[in-house]
Amino acid sequence: MTQSILFASNNAHKAKELKVLLPGFDILSYKDVFKKDFKADETGLSFHQNALIKLEAIENHPQLICLAEDSGLVVEALDGEPGIYSARYGKTHFNDEDRARFVLEKMTEKAHRAAHYISIIAIRMPTHTVHLVQGRVDGHIAKTYEGTNGFGYDPIFIPNGYTDTFGILDPSVKEKLSHRARACTQLLSVLERDL
Ligand code: IMP
Repeated sequence: MTQSILFASNNAHKAKELKVLLPGFDILSYKDVFKKDFKADETGLSFHQNALIKLEAIENHPQLICLAEDSGLVVEALDGEPGIYSARYGKTHFNDEDRARFVLEKMTEKAHRAAHYISIIAIRMPTHTVHLVQGRVDGHIAKTYEGTNGFGYDPIFIPNGYTDTFGILDPSVKEKLSHRARACTQLLSVLERDL
């Protein structure tokens, strides 16, 4: 029987990636299960804390594995920004593209462009056991905004070993080496062991 995982998020891009990265599992959106948007106060000071805050914000569900993720882009020359504030970086009216262009603007004069994405995934099994896994992909910030694949900061992030952004690269590349892909590889081993 296919096991279902409740993904506590309103981010359709992340959900689409998880569906590919967790084959054999049925990824249910929070809205599908609870008929309302997911809400959590992301007051943590780290990706770990925020992933756990999100996990705790999910109503108990006796049958489902619950999954929460906190992720973001860490830019060395910006002292780690946008970091845990990746989803709400810059002005309140900014959309994803504005936020990525804001990072580019801040990076205009910077020669050191190293950056990485981080993904922390927290899951709660029906037995209430909680597991945390993480993934990271290193790369650098492009000079210009390029491509329409992926989401968020992907059009400005060039993973190590490539010369194009995740916005331009075929999605199969991101599927193999992204922060989320690496966290999901670990998650699959945990699930294999615990189920
Ligand atoms: P969260 O939903 O609070 O974890 O915020 C994650 C934010 O980090 C997203 O809204 C994006 O801005 C950024 N982010 C995380 N993962 C990715 C990715 O795979 N591509 C592009 N941006 C990402």
